[in-house]
Amino acid sequence: MSFPVIGVVGGGQLARMMAPAATALGVRLRVLAEGGDVSATTAAECVVGDYRDLETLRDFAASVDVVTFDHEHVPAEHLRALEAAGVNLQPGPDALQHAQDKLLMRQACDRLGLPNPAWAAVTTVDELIGFARRVEFPVVLKTPRGGYDGKGVRVVASVEDAEDCRDWFGLGFEALLVEDLVEFSRELSAQVARTPSGTTASYPVVESIQTDGICDVVTAPAPGIDPRTAQAAEEAAVTLAEGLGVTGMLAVELFETPGIGPGFMVNELAMRPHNSGHWTMDGAVTGQFEQHVRAVLDLPLGATDTLGAYTVMKNYLGGANEDLYSAFPAAMAAHPEAKIHAYGKSVRPGRKIGHVNVVAPLAEDLAAAREAAESAAAIIRDGHRAQNEPRTAAADDLQEQS
Ligand code: ADP
Repeated sequence: MSFPVIGVVGGGQLARMMAPAATALGVRLRVLAEGGDVSATTAAECVVGDYRDLETLRDFAASVDVVTFDHEHVPAEHLRALEAAGVNLQPGPDALQHAQDKLLMRQACDRLGLPNPAWAAVTTVDELIGFARRVEFPVVLKTPRGGYDGKGVRVVASVEDAEDCRDWFGLGFEALLVEDLVEFSRELSAQVARTPSGTTASYPVVESIQTDGICDVVTAPAPGIDPRTAQAAEEAAVTLAEGLGVTGMLAVELFETPGIGPGFMVNELAMRPHNSGHWTMDGAVTGQFEQHVRAVLDLPLGATDTLGAYTVMKNYLGGANEDLYSAFPAAMAAHPEAKIHAYGKSVRPGRKIGHVNVVAPLAEDLAAAREAAESAAAIIRDGHRAQNEPRTAAADDLQEQS
């Protein structure tokens, strides 16, 4: 049997969703999981271990043919040590550092001639204020590393706000990133896959609506996008993939800025399958998880053609309903066209626990697809009563007693 074994560091939902894609190709997936109860454990072969420990990483790497990632948090020095020991890392540390460190990412965008917001590396409150006065308040202060879902990002609207950020300069970073606050019309994302041999395959640029810093609704392709902006954004993603030597899936989060530059600016990078690409699981010939598997194995990439005029992806977060499965009959009965994905996670308020995809076969089906995705997700999140079904007094009494 010459089928390879893929190792994934991190056992979140991204590792979990790589598993069926690998299985379909007869490829084994082995996950280095943070604990026995993380998302991937019920879907893939898992070993529990600490990704911050080099020996654990070395042992794990020795048991697989290629190592890839569910997240960006493996310490850069460990990645360098693994690379020096000949481990097949996809992506490798030279690329991955740009997804780990937003200051390096901004420098790389400047070097590659891609549109960035005005930015600076600052080490003191005075430098922060100096930058903000130059570009005008408000600005956005960011920790270079360790941020996600809007954590580690703060809008600084005044000198007083800047003074309030004094603690941020004691967090142990050599410098913080400060950027001009971009007045974007919406957020976009461009995804591309690249193999170690250097072939690439792009997906259409999508619209990504963030709510409270978390990806909420994605529409693919981005409705009404200027075709020149879409083309330039796709090209920017390829430029980044090639320029940084990315392998596997790359997501480039963008701000749409009509009339300014090519109509977009780069926000940040993720070098793995990404929330903004979940629509591909049901809306493209090759889903991003299969594409990632192909790419890290240096196989020819799959077609990225869409399966409908649009696909809408709606995330659902932990809410009132603690027994997700109990709402599946209602969600499926109401929306047979909806493709429901659940991450095998326990329900906690605000935690990403699944998503719903709905394909709009024709452009005029977009509004209906959006409604169906929103409605199916709401039924699952809130329980089946959420769908205009009033609670009876008897049901409320029962609830009180229990
Ligand atoms: P994270 O690493 O947490 O995803 P991001 O850098 O993507 O952090 O920032 C989170 C959100 O904050 C973005 O999705 C965007 O809505 C907003 N944001 C970040 N940078 C800027 C900026 N320069 N101008 C305007 N909004 C921004």
